[in-house]
Amino acid sequence: MMTQGQCHELFARLRSANPDPVTELQYASAFQLLIAVILSAQATDRSVNLATRKLFADAPTPQAMLALGESGLTPYISRIGLYQSKARNVIATCRQLLDRHGGEVPPSRAALEALPGVGRKTANVVLNTAFGEPTIAVDTHIFRVANRTGLAVGRTPLAVELELLQVVPDGFRQSAHHWLLLHGRYVCKARRPDCWRCPIADLCAYPGKADDPGGTARE
Ligand code: SF4
Repeated sequence: MMTQGQCHELFARLRSANPDPVTELQYASAFQLLIAVILSAQATDRSVNLATRKLFADAPTPQAMLALGESGLTPYISRIGLYQSKARNVIATCRQLLDRHGGEVPPSRAALEALPGVGRKTANVVLNTAFGEPTIAVDTHIFRVANRTGLAVGRTPLAVELELLQVVPDGFRQSAHHWLLLHGRYVCKARRPDCWRCPIADLCAYPGKADDPGGTARE
């Protein structure tokens, strides 16, 4: 486990490399963010952005997207994995937003998680990015970085999330998931982490890194 001082130093370094991190998903409203995050499950942000660029131009609101229906929505998202179930969930979510929330995205975890296709991770992203809550959405990148570094060790995303909420210093919590996600996506990569250019290497407990500073360390 890291000390409090090490945790602080880790985030201070990630912040100094990227003071104002943002999601790579493209959106222009809380509704569009919600839909983009639903579509991004087991898909790359790039593939989602390619699809939503046209989708959000043609159907920017819950009303417009509901009017498309599943069959009208499918052609926009058919290059994204699991698109059939996602189309079903997106249309059902639009209907629920209109029926129960006046067409707005609700700013509460319980109401978000009641929407079709919305689990804890998606709710955390929306609460954090659309509503400014200091939640930490644990995806595959954050799960890996937290466990490798020793920042928050856990067997499940929920265990890691709860541990991160304990150890991330207050001033860093709002952007913590962005920093950890981007670090995992571009530096602490799954198959071959770039330990040789990692700004937090001296704080990291991953046993493979020190032996191979040339960037060929493996899991
Ligand atoms: S030193 Fe290597 S394993 Fe540790 S955080 Fe950096 S890239 Fe990941």
